[in-house]
Amino acid sequence: MKTPVSDFLEEILSSCAHETSGALADYIPELANVDPDQLAVAVCTTNGSLYCAGDADNAFTIQSISKAFVYALALQEHGVDAVVKRVGVEPSGEPFNELSLEAGSGRPLNPMINAGALTCHALIGGLDCDPDERFEKVRQGLSAFADRELDVDEAVFESELADAYRNNAIANMLRSYGVIDGDPADVVRGYTRQCSLRVTTRDLARMAATLAYGGVQPATGERVVDTDVVRQVLSVMMTCGMYDAAGDWMTSCGFPAKSGVSGGIMGALSGQVGLATFSPRLDDHGNSVRGITLCRRLSRDMGLHIMDSP
Ligand code: GLN
Repeated sequence: MKTPVSDFLEEILSSCAHETSGALADYIPELANVDPDQLAVAVCTTNGSLYCAGDADNAFTIQSISKAFVYALALQEHGVDAVVKRVGVEPSGEPFNELSLEAGSGRPLNPMINAGALTCHALIGGLDCDPDERFEKVRQGLSAFADRELDVDEAVFESELADAYRNNAIANMLRSYGVIDGDPADVVRGYTRQCSLRVTTRDLARMAATLAYGGVQPATGERVVDTDVVRQVLSVMMTCGMYDAAGDWMTSCGFPAKSGVSGGIMGALSGQVGLATFSPRLDDHGNSVRGITLCRRLSRDMGLHIMDSP
């Protein structure tokens, strides 16, 4: 059905359709094979109305966007204080795959870089959880946010795992400092499966709307996580979600968001909307070039910047 909102979404898509700058992520070989011209936007309100335009039903792997949701699941399971003891909340100003820990505390700096995300993955189900069971909890948790059963893109999973030297190095570092327990290879495997969960732009907007609605999935009415968990997740997304471009993002878009190397961006404005964009070409920080353009337009035209005067 045509609505003023869907006309607006069509219009902002066509205004950036010509942009071809940026490059596909190729460190995961399978991601270099996707159609680079895919472009989509979706907006989901906290009452569950969803509007979208472009390739909003095309599937892609969730990648780092999963980090925000698995952080939420870890917080829900263990409580904010226990998780913060293990994973900090400071922006790193570093690329997502940096081998780094916070000086002094020895914790990963935040849950949005790989060191923190691997640690959050390892927290799901508790330290003794079987790795397959842990992944299943993650899959079910993310599916609850989306109101749809999500599955794994096995080709992307195998492709990333075969080449996961950097993430194995990070997981080994975490193990050697006692941040995670068990076999680091199991954690990398589970985290890589988590990143290989397949979503559409529509799914991401619904997942974002669950955050915007204080942890309740707008369509099902199911409480997925508590409000204090959402507050923590959105705060960390605001300061750390766009990696070493977080300051630029804050000033130009001004709503909490998380990006992934397959070209998705998911954002949420508390009490208002969840939104998502998809375009696979990335800038040097690993953020989608046209996704950022679209988010700037959404922020400006829908008044989503949290620092805007009323
Ligand atoms: N699976 C990817 C990795 O760990 C996710 C990175 C991202 O989306 N920025 O390298």
